Amino acid sequence: MADTVRVRFAPSPTGEPHIGNIRTALFNWLFARHSGGSFVLRIEDTDQERKVEGALDSILASLRWLGLDWDEGPESENGGSNGDYGPYVQSERLGLYREAVDRLLANGDAYPCFCSPERLDAMRKEQQRNQQPPGYDRHCLTELTSEERERRAGEERHVVRFRIPTEGGTVVVNDYIRGDVAYEPALIDDFVILKSDGFPTYHLANVVDDHFMQITHVMRAEEWLPSAPRHVLLYRALGWEPPVLAHLPMILGPDRAKLSKRHGATSTLEYKNSGYLPEAMTNFMALLGWSLDDHTEVFSRDELVEHFDLDRVGKAGAIFNAEKLTWMNGLYIRQLPAEELAERILPFLERPEAEGGLPDGVARPVDAAYVATLTPLIQERLKRLDEAPGLLSFFFEGLPTPAASDLVPKGVSPEQATDALAMVTDKLEAIGDWNEEALEATLRPMAEELGLKTGQLFGAIRVAVTGRSVSPPLFETMVALGRERCMDALRNAVGTLGESAAQASSP
Ligand code: GLU
Repeated sequence: MADTVRVRFAPSPTGEPHIGNIRTALFNWLFARHSGGSFVLRIEDTDQERKVEGALDSILASLRWLGLDWDEGPESENGGSNGDYGPYVQSERLGLYREAVDRLLANGDAYPCFCSPERLDAMRKEQQRNQQPPGYDRHCLTELTSEERERRAGEERHVVRFRIPTEGGTVVVNDYIRGDVAYEPALIDDFVILKSDGFPTYHLANVVDDHFMQITHVMRAEEWLPSAPRHVLLYRALGWEPPVLAHLPMILGPDRAKLSKRHGATSTLEYKNSGYLPEAMTNFMALLGWSLDDHTEVFSRDELVEHFDLDRVGKAGAIFNAEKLTWMNGLYIRQLPAEELAERILPFLERPEAEGGLPDGVARPVDAAYVATLTPLIQERLKRLDEAPGLLSFFFEGLPTPAASDLVPKGVSPEQATDALAMVTDKLEAIGDWNEEALEATLRPMAEELGLKTGQLFGAIRVAVTGRSVSPPLFETMVALGRERCMDALRNAVGTLGESAAQASSP
């Protein structure tokens, strides 16, 4: 086995990678970077029937989004495979699996099986009826002679099964996180290692690849623990030393059930789409099973690399708390330099309205410099980047046209509101510089003069200039909107209120 750490992330391209998959990738990546080792990406595509178009692209995109760069793998960052242990896609390694199968066959550790699906089905039903543990009944091992098996193997489609050694007692999996886990060999059946289509099964391919790729540590989800005794037996039969095994704790929803779509555990790229920052996501996922101590929650990427250690990965299921993720995202958003936040927001503004972007009527590309002046207005309260279009859209649209009723704050008569906005318009027309201080110095004292609460006056102005009752801080908003536009909007508002009053009084 290699002296330096070599770990791998071995996804199957059978669907969109979810948080659980990518947490596994992250832990392997952190471990590799922490120990100065290599992070290998291997694509386990032996189940051709379950292959999903586009899944591989999503896996690569997820890793790239989170900055989990791999040292070896298909499509390396530098283009092409860049490691010595390739190819890194299992369907391109069939020869290696075949060699291992031949060796196992030759040593009597494996045998061909000709049982039809119908026979296997009937066998399973029978086992169920008799409440026996499920598993292959060794028909082709016990009922056929080795000559028969050999002859038929040359003529018939068949699978190859691993022969579980019945001698040798319990099979012990030394798990780094869980300690020794013992399995009764009688409960492990003679599993298939080579399918009739010539493809290996997960178990065989996984073991062969981990061996030949000189993987030192296997970190994967707990759901693979029951597969580990089979792997241990395969390593033994092939005369290879197994890597260190570490099964990562399950990820659970707040109700402690296995994390599922129901808990909002959608594909990793959906988090990207919803405006989570990769740095927040990385920090959050690192804490799904690992901790430095019992209180530190915020870690930069470098800090994670510095501290990550398998010794501090727990056994207990990790609770996925979506609110905490959103909180953490807000924290990371607030830490971004404003210009950088603007850059990250831009794609969210520019996407089509139906996907949550600015109204389609707003011309694309959006003015990046203008966006940079707006981001400080929302940075403090933004929790996800996809909230930005909703918060900022009025900056990009035409003049607002609020209804008269919306321009009249609670507890204020229409006449008072009209007078107030008319006076605001007059006063603002006269101010010199259009900046926050000047606006504040002019508007704040007016509330008292008009006999209104500040909230009432500012509320009316807000609706007049933005068309909304909620917006970023008023004076900053007015500065960003610009003098001309605010004055036009205020005059319109006074007009709207006047028309409405005229209508109300006409017979
Ligand atoms: N291909 C398996 C998966 O999709 C890999 C399991 C392992 O790491 O051994 O999760």
